[in-house]
Amino acid sequence: MGWFAGKPCRIVYRSEYMTSIHAQDNHQTFDVMKFKKIRDQLVKERLVRRRQILAPEFLSEEDMLLVHQKSYLESLKNPLLVGQALALDYVNPWDNYIMEYFRYVAGGTTLAVEYALEHRTTVFNLGGGYHHAHPDRAEGFCLINDVAIAIEKVRKKQRVEKILVIDLDYHQGNGTMLIYRDDPGVFTFSIHASNWATLESPTNVDLELPSHVQDAVYLAALKENLPPVFERFDPDLLIYLAGGDPFILDSLGDFDITEAGMLERDMFVYQQACRRKLPLAVVAGGGYGPESWRVYYNFIKAVLRGRCK
Ligand SMILES: [Zn+2]
Repeated sequence: MGWFAGKPCRIVYRSEYMTSIHAQDNHQTFDVMKFKKIRDQLVKERLVRRRQILAPEFLSEEDMLLVHQKSYLESLKNPLLVGQALALDYVNPWDNYIMEYFRYVAGGTTLAVEYALEHRTTVFNLGGGYHHAHPDRAEGFCLINDVAIAIEKVRKKQRVEKILVIDLDYHQGNGTMLIYRDDPGVFTFSIHASNWATLESPTNVDLELPSHVQDAVYLAALKENLPPVFERFDPDLLIYLAGGDPFILDSLGDFDITEAGMLERDMFVYQQACRRKLPLAVVAGGGYGPESWRVYYNFIKAVLRGRCK
């Protein structure tokens, strides 16, 4: 089962990840069944046993305060303001199910990071990667920055000094990048379509690629630019946003990366972790349309089958 001897990879998921199903009308391109589909398929193929799946806790307010401003978190207690922040046409003013969903999934990212670190293995959260969220505001369908919260939580316990965030979602990880702009302990690496923000920082690499970029150019950008970051920064922990939206069949992104190219990308990142025996927490990031689930599924399946060389 993947990874180095005796350290099985794990999956993080719980049924509350499905509560966003109510928001389906507003985000039709996002397959709300995607993560359940991945879980079910992994179980069906006996790659994962149900009892081995890690179930996250509901993220506490105290944890959210590690990254977000109190006044902003207060506003998120009002479902109408949550609806506004996400530009939803309709929300039930009496039911804050959207925020509940975010808090369970963000709890999942924290669990994935903590477990990966503690057991020195690879852990996949079947969701997460809200990389546009800022300390004081939502952006791009991201309410809370789960990756930054997870980072702050493990740092608080003084368990890790240098963290590398590799963000290969089609969109720039601008929220995470700005949160850590002056922080020498967190390096942010992102390959994406267009810049949402620009930054001069010794601990940030941002690569913008053109529309309809194909496998060869995309993979070369990754393979040339990522390994030097490991040499320069020498991280203790990796967090990987394996966004599925550079995929050619994605209904939102306009990159032309094939299914094989997406798997090559993901396995390249995984192999960097393997080679250096680094704990790796993976979050899903974006990925839209009915074919999107396969991208993350292919990656998890390859890791579970132990294809690390
Ligand atoms: Zn995206």
